[in-house]
Amino acid sequence: MVVDDILKILERIPLWKKLTALPTRVDALEKRLAELEASKAPDQDSVVRDGALFKRNSDGSWQNTVYCPNCKTGMSKFPAATGEMTFICSHCGGESGFSVQELPEMLKKLSD
Ligand SMILES: [Zn+2]
Repeated sequence: MVVDDILKILERIPLWKKLTALPTRVDALEKRLAELEASKAPDQDSVVRDGALFKRNSDGSWQNTVYCPNCKTGMSKFPAATGEMTFICSHCGGESGFSVQELPEMLKKLSD
């Protein structure tokens, strides 16, 4: 049996496919982790969380306003499909991953 035959057999095993995909997956996750760690830097003026951009006031506290991470403009309150009020960007249609009611909790988490 030649190597090609062995590889053809291995390709039919789902676990083998998962194993061979791991290096790519690890690279993607490491990149994502680096982005997240960079966004957690304490001296940062803004962070992106759950589809929204948060900015600091000059005193270091977080603004009560939610910005679009793509357009950098303020997002508007808008009823989501779930019926909850969410934040949406009127320019690109981007939507926050949290509801209006969850904003105080989001701001608290940013300060922790
Ligand atoms: Zn936008």
